[in-house]
Amino acid sequence: MKRRDILKSIGLLPFGGVFFTGVIGPKLSVAAPIKTLQKKNLVEELGLRVFINAAGTYTDMTASLMTDETLEAIKATSRVFVMYGDVQDKVGERIAKICHSEGAMVTAGCWSALVLGTAAVLTGTNKKKIAALPNVDNFEKNELVLQESHSHGYTHALMTTGIKPVTVKTREELDSAINKKTALMFFLNATALEGNIKHEEWLSVAKEHGIPTIIDIAADIPPVENLWKFTDMGFDLVCISGGKGLRGPQSAGLLLGKRDLIDGARLNAPPYGGNIGRGMKVNKEEIIGMYAALDRYVSIDHNAEWRDWEKRREVIFDAISNIDGVNVEKFVPPIANHTPTLSVTWDKDKIPISVVDFRQRLRKRSPSIEVIGNNQGGFNVTVFMLQPGEDRFVARGLREEFLTVKNA
Ligand SMILES: *Cc1c(COP(=O)(O)O)cnc(C)c1O
Repeated sequence: MKRRDILKSIGLLPFGGVFFTGVIGPKLSVAAPIKTLQKKNLVEELGLRVFINAAGTYTDMTASLMTDETLEAIKATSRVFVMYGDVQDKVGERIAKICHSEGAMVTAGCWSALVLGTAAVLTGTNKKKIAALPNVDNFEKNELVLQESHSHGYTHALMTTGIKPVTVKTREELDSAINKKTALMFFLNATALEGNIKHEEWLSVAKEHGIPTIIDIAADIPPVENLWKFTDMGFDLVCISGGKGLRGPQSAGLLLGKRDLIDGARLNAPPYGGNIGRGMKVNKEEIIGMYAALDRYVSIDHNAEWRDWEKRREVIFDAISNIDGVNVEKFVPPIANHTPTLSVTWDKDKIPISVVDFRQRLRKRSPSIEVIGNNQGGFNVTVFMLQPGEDRFVARGLREEFLTVKNA
């Protein structure tokens, strides 16, 4: 794929200067500036490093590339005025239907879904309570229960509402942690295998006490079934990143949930002010772009996509597996970035380079390549964020760099 096409798919070229027409002024014909500005490449002009993403959907690598369906939806939406609430209503209805939930809204990423979902549980639709956040000291229920292995950087999102965390490790500790102040029980799907208490048990305890539940499945799509699996299982609120596997706008996400909780979450967010979520605005373009991304995602052939990913992985595997000293293994992470992946490690005596330095070499290539460090002292290669044909660049890049270091 040509560099220009890569940029096109990032969305900088096809807009063709549409967002500049206001600056140029209404007197110029639309056709003229579009033509000239189409040549303007801000990514290049700004001197940004463009790279092949063989790492995965990582926030600092800008996560994913939007598809044409999303970009077209964004472009069309950007040309009209509509009422903000109407967009959330209509899009929410469609998303809820796709995801088997009663209600849904587009949020500013999974983080924002976690904040707004928690806020909804604390405040319901009570305006006084909404205005009080994050001061929940006088709330009847203001405690959050979670497992220690489910406590990570992102749980900070829930705590911004003022809710007070109570961490447990075992079922016994869970039973004694629950009390009349318990407002919400949180589950992190990514570390489900590490916690003592699994989904079903967590839910059954919550149901027994009538406590709402929220689950973070941010990066856990694919598989596509995860879009409805956790609502079907009984979670009251489900939070998903829009810009990871779904390839929607990076700053969008989904909050799925019970109708009354979505109503509460909506009141804690724009267009309303005087609430905790006012700064988590998603514009109409992204709300509709998010829906377009989801709609596309549920209609593609996931088996064909998976086979394509396996083929790409094979190309890279074949290029490096026969290098003496390099150890390559095929695997699929069980949860999050759940796609055909390679784990690459090497004998540092035969190929004397650290993973940090090796990744730096990959970055300095043209085209530049990003992979992601793993826990085995090497790195992982994923292929689901590659554009067609980029697997060959990754294969050649890894092979050449390993051989160069080995033969130095
Ligand atoms: C990425 C991620 C988030 C945050 O999602 P955004 O869409 O970037 O807001 C939350 N939780 C987990 C587990 C994540 O991987």
